[in-house]
Amino acid sequence: MKLPKRIKIGPVVFDIVQEDKLLDEGCNRKLLGQILISDCLIKMEPKQHDNTWRLTLLHEIVHGISVFSGCELSEEQVDRITNLLGAVLLDNPKLVEMWRGKARDD
Ligand SMILES: [Zn+2]
Repeated sequence: MKLPKRIKIGPVVFDIVQEDKLLDEGCNRKLLGQILISDCLIKMEPKQHDNTWRLTLLHEIVHGISVFSGCELSEEQVDRITNLLGAVLLDNPKLVEMWRGKARDD
């Protein structure tokens, strides 16, 4: 899957990089993605199915939204929002175009 090189979340532009064998901060758990707010960086494990890539990137975006909105969502809340938002985007392919003003209706 071709990923964007950067993405803007709230006031910050994050670079998106691929990193093999991505681990959590304690190096105890394998990760598919990780957002580092202070480094303006999103790391993505490259060995993922295309469908997983989408959800992983959306998951990290929801983490970013959580931080910039001051909501401080738990990992479980981030997962729930990610899964539902991902489903809405997949089930309504014209939604993003409509949101951007490029399509009026189906
Ligand atoms: Zn997470």
